[in-house]
Amino acid sequence: MGQADVSNLVASDSKTSEDPKVVKEYLVKKGDNLRRIAKLHHISVGTLKRWNKLSRNKIRPGMSLKVSPSAEQAPSKLSLNYVLGHFHPRDHPEFVKLRKPYSDGKNRYLRKEVADAFIQMAKAAKKDGIRLRVVSATRTYLEQKRLWTDKWVGRKIVGGKNFSKIANHLKRAESILRYSSMPGSSRHHWGTDLDLNRISGRYFREGKGLKVYRWMQANAHKFGFCQPYDRKSESRKFGYAEERWHWSHRPSTLSIMGFLNKHFRDAMISGFAGSKFASRLSIKKHYMLSISKHCL
Ligand SMILES: [Zn+2]
Repeated sequence: MGQADVSNLVASDSKTSEDPKVVKEYLVKKGDNLRRIAKLHHISVGTLKRWNKLSRNKIRPGMSLKVSPSAEQAPSKLSLNYVLGHFHPRDHPEFVKLRKPYSDGKNRYLRKEVADAFIQMAKAAKKDGIRLRVVSATRTYLEQKRLWTDKWVGRKIVGGKNFSKIANHLKRAESILRYSSMPGSSRHHWGTDLDLNRISGRYFREGKGLKVYRWMQANAHKFGFCQPYDRKSESRKFGYAEERWHWSHRPSTLSIMGFLNKHFRDAMISGFAGSKFASRLSIKKHYMLSISKHCL
């Protein structure tokens, strides 16, 4: 499972030079310490210790340390319940709550390695005068269902539009799908994806927000992050509209995408208004897997 499975579905130019499946090793030199090595590879000391199963901070010259994401970083047990968001991150041993100033202080959970990577990235950004803050992270199926239903029944108005006024239910579902996933099909279920600073296209198109976006474009990949919903192109013809606020921790998502490619079917999407259109709208192919080539 993993990249090979997913790459069958996408353009062949999707390979990048930084394949996270290749485990990079670092040979410890005299005078090295964990803090220095971690900094050099844009990871935290905690992550470095976890990848190398180190219980103490002591290292010796000549030791070989894993300094890139490896298979161990992927979720240990993948299941359909996990992919569909039928669990609570609060109770999951591989998740942590992201606190201020890295989040807005609400219940923002991410997978541990994703939170680590985000904190490293936010620290680097801060040095460049850029503030990164998570305003949405892991969402359960039920949370996504609430978001979806609020739009479906017109409790939430999006850009002045009340979707409940769209009488044709297939069209209504398609309209909501411009920005919101059907419950069970959101990358936010996985703990690998987050929304940054403000969920607003306008914010990221000008001034301060544009500066943040430019910084992310230049630097996010160094920390493993990519923008899955980039501008539509030849390699991303379908799916959600561009979302400059949504970022994904690529190394943690590859095995999940491999799993869903193999085991997930549109018919598994159910339990809410409009879910019967999941197959007709090819949710898996045209939404879940229609992402930026930089995330594959
Ligand atoms: Zn998002």
